[in-house]
Amino acid sequence: MVERESTGPSVFTRILRGEIPGEIVLQTDDVFVLKDIAPKAPVHLLVVPKTDAYRDVTELAEGDPKLLARMVEVATAAAAQAGHQDFRLIFNRGLGAGQTVFHVHAHLLAGELDEASMTAGMADAGRDT
Ligand code: AMP
Repeated sequence: MVERESTGPSVFTRILRGEIPGEIVLQTDDVFVLKDIAPKAPVHLLVVPKTDAYRDVTELAEGDPKLLARMVEVATAAAAQAGHQDFRLIFNRGLGAGQTVFHVHAHLLAGELDEASMTAGMADAGRDT
């Protein structure tokens, strides 16, 4: 389901607030990391700024590049916490790229990665897996 602005707080904000269930595995002052509800890899986490001011990575890069760098830093820590030094970081930007939640987030994938993990977050990803 694609979230639209009129739906109010994003699903990630609602998880952060404890309004709906979610498994947060790491958080700092400005970024939190939760398990993706539909994992496409052995480790599939979502790295999310606590602010919902930025809809996608383009807006974030323009508006607060330091926060984007913080996301990478926290992603590295979350991967290490999951036992991985190497990982894939994916931002879907826009409906055409499969973005469904318009609160900027990165998909952090690690473990045995295959091509299915390249389409993390896309609506039809993993159909055959
Ligand atoms: P994107 O399609 O890039 O916007 O990514 C959104 C991601 O959020 C998808 O991979 C979904 O599986 C994930 N997702 C949606 N709802 C939840 C939820 N309640 N808890 C955890 N992950 C979720």
